[in-house]
Amino acid sequence: MAAATPSLPALRTKPKAIFFTDFDGTITLQDSNDWMTDNLGFGVELRKQNNKEVLFDGRPFRDAFQDMLDSVTKPFDECIQLLLQNVQLDPAFKEFASWCRANNVPIVVLSGGMQPVIRALLAHLVGEEEAAVMQIVSNDVKARPGKSINDENGWDIEYHDDSSFGHDKSLEIRPYAALSDRPVMFYAGDGVSDFSAAKETDLLFAKAGRDLVTYCETENVPFTVFHDFSNIHKIVADVVEGKITVQQAATGSK
Ligand SMILES: [Mg+2]
Repeated sequence: MAAATPSLPALRTKPKAIFFTDFDGTITLQDSNDWMTDNLGFGVELRKQNNKEVLFDGRPFRDAFQDMLDSVTKPFDECIQLLLQNVQLDPAFKEFASWCRANNVPIVVLSGGMQPVIRALLAHLVGEEEAAVMQIVSNDVKARPGKSINDENGWDIEYHDDSSFGHDKSLEIRPYAALSDRPVMFYAGDGVSDFSAAKETDLLFAKAGRDLVTYCETENVPFTVFHDFSNIHKIVADVVEGKITVQQAATGSK
């Protein structure tokens, strides 16, 4: 096992596996950015049109996502309060997170969403203690010029990097993947923000019926479908306990 470095924090406990995961729509049932766009911004029709342009016309996710969030003008603190009331956790995630903690499998949240939203929702949904041990790599929020984030039309997304994704999730995963002796790496996701990470791990879980499944089928990326975290929990436990290999677990849509 390579020594942990500050850039590879998930190696610190010398785990046998690392669980990378999307946040919105994967750990949660509702995507918080979609929820804000549909209910506070330009609405579901335009959002779906935006997603289609990313999926089929090569439009950068970064630009489509910026348009979505620009249409939400409510103060940031009000947005968070509304999200806390309207976004629910995958019913099996909390138990999975406890299992991961007990079995030394770090959870690394890789998100196109904004850090304060993710932290508030995670603390609310899984509890402060469980949320505190998860590494979160995401976009952030910033004030627009001359405003505070809690003013009307006062906040803007601050992207993690200069990529066309806004947050290129492969950047965090690749240094681990490049190690000669390394943990098994999983990734779970559901949508367009996950395309950059889809090919980077040993086993990809894609949420049933969502855009990531379409992408994997179009691009011939091996994956296994999940409906909720109980499916993921069983497979991750079986792989970590050596009952099945990741190759055996990559069953596509079956
Ligand atoms: Mg998502």
